[in-house]
Amino acid sequence: MATSGERGSLLGGLGQWWGILAGALLIAAWINEAAGPAAIIALSAVVLLWSFFQAPVTCGAPVRGRKDGCRNNATGILMGCHIHQHRWQKLKMLIFRRRVREFCSGLFSDGKGTLVTLAAAGSFLSGLVALIPGVAV
Ligand SMILES: [Zn+2]
Repeated sequence: MATSGERGSLLGGLGQWWGILAGALLIAAWINEAAGPAAIIALSAVVLLWSFFQAPVTCGAPVRGRKDGCRNNATGILMGCHIHQHRWQKLKMLIFRRRVREFCSGLFSDGKGTLVTLAAAGSFLSGLVALIPGVAV
């Protein structure tokens, strides 16, 4: 059994996707009425925070001479990669309104980004509906 090291790194890679697991629990909480709004709100917040600050996505910060931007791994759709200038690049894009469209198109630049963005949107809506009484039917 020489694969223990590989298995460890595989788990490490999959471990980054725990937010999707929380998302599945969130859907289960919506289906199961016994879960109650508190569980739904908590799970929504967890999934939202994960997609903003933890999810494994591509950095995508603008890089001179590269049309598709930085391809390093970033943590969350609001954060950049380990390069200092990229770290807050996306939050800056959100603050300067002219670049919000650029930010939004970057969210869907690849499959991972799309998945994480959908998770963020879904958990945000789910939390909103759970928080506002009367919206949920
Ligand atoms: Zn970067």
